[in-house]
Amino acid sequence: MATSSDRPMTAEDLRAQIEHDYGQWEAGQQILVGNALAYDVGHPIPASNVDDEGRVVLDRHYCAGHENNRCSDFNKPVRWSDPGVAVRAEPPAEAKPAKAKATGA
Ligand SMILES: [Zn+2]
Repeated sequence: MATSSDRPMTAEDLRAQIEHDYGQWEAGQQILVGNALAYDVGHPIPASNVDDEGRVVLDRHYCAGHENNRCSDFNKPVRWSDPGVAVRAEPPAEAKPAKAKATGA
């Protein structure tokens, strides 16, 4: 079965993927997991760890106790922050669209 994923990922692909995953959300406040600082203010949060309301995944199901027989819940979020803890990140300067020119009056 030929799919685009058959093509080996290049460094450029990886860079673009990381930029996409990390370029969308940042911490609007310090985010702690337990007593550990997971994200400081302004630090990028991968999109895969944020929902549309800005809730951040604080914990996932890692099949503790049945690691050798992963269940269907493996890696599913089990604990979220309050909404709005993650905020939309400003796009990097070079990724910003060119300023739209004023058209007519
Ligand atoms: Zn499990």
